[in-house]
Amino acid sequence: MTGRSALPFRRALLGWYDSVRRYLPWRESSDFYRVWISEVMLQQTRVEAVIPYFHRFLEQFPSIRALADAPEADVLAAWSGLGYYSRARNLHRAAKQVANQGVPASHDDVLSLPGAGPYTAAAISSIVLGLPHAAVDGNVIRVISRLTNDAAEISAPRTRARFAAEAQRLLDTHRPGDFNQAMMELGATVCLPRTPLCPECPVQRFCAGRAAGRERELPVKLKKAAVTEIVLELLAMLWDGRVFLIRRDDAEKRLAGFWELPPRELFAEVPGTRASEFTHRIVNDRFRVVVWKAVWKAVWKAAAPATVKLEGGRWFDLSELTSLPVTTVTRKALAGLSEAKPAAGLS
Ligand code: SF4
Repeated sequence: MTGRSALPFRRALLGWYDSVRRYLPWRESSDFYRVWISEVMLQQTRVEAVIPYFHRFLEQFPSIRALADAPEADVLAAWSGLGYYSRARNLHRAAKQVANQGVPASHDDVLSLPGAGPYTAAAISSIVLGLPHAAVDGNVIRVISRLTNDAAEISAPRTRARFAAEAQRLLDTHRPGDFNQAMMELGATVCLPRTPLCPECPVQRFCAGRAAGRERELPVKLKKAAVTEIVLELLAMLWDGRVFLIRRDDAEKRLAGFWELPPRELFAEVPGTRASEFTHRIVNDRFRVVVWKAVWKAVWKAAAPATVKLEGGRWFDLSELTSLPVTTVTRKALAGLSEAKPAAGLS
């Protein structure tokens, strides 16, 4: 593929994209705010998971000004469950910047927003502003490595630079936003990581990896680091439609300000029953989460929990949790408890 004219490739790819592209709510317009929110949400998160969050977020913060003026706790609550919370904090800071300085008018303006890296800047400036910048995410890297039959290890900066240059060479400068989305769509729906659907691929005839029969060997990645398993025991204390949560302090910046179930050992004296167990993965850590349950009427006979000394946290009505920043692990834990699920709407 490298070095050949890119024109037939562009025609084949865009023709395919025009006829089969998926309906996605942020594709309805090239409005900066909608595209920006979707691009930030889509980082490290699947399209299907993003869609309901995208709708709810825009309902709650219908404009950049509404987002800029909102308290950070409300933004984190709306993001709660999507993970990678630095994205929400940066988005909030960036909204304040845009509300003061105006909507970005150039690639450099987009790049200056807190949290915007080369991928986000290229995606937004091509889709919204029509500027000729190739957006290179994991899907595009996979497609390029196969198209060019390039077996270089993809985390190496030189490989990334070469793939970015090839993506830029292929880019249709008349329709850069559509071209970028078409490349990502191809990676997400046809040029799949384990089983690329080559017979259905609109650019199969340009694909050197397929011609060499090596499409499944590409791209080449470093071996993943070993996964560490960590056991996490949590205590869900429930009392008359309420749950006791503690607040993360600033020691762990990523989740500072979030509420969560306390560790079991913090309230070892509270009798509880083992209620459920699930796994939760964060990068190379696999948490085996064991949830203990202590329901007021069953465990405390003498005094109401409101009068029991419980340091470092407070009781929340389960119905409040949807508007509170709550960690994903705690949401999952409560969703598995029959006493918490219906009231909290946490499934
Ligand atoms: Fe990917 Fe196969 Fe298409 Fe090549 S032919 S781009 S490997 S789906």
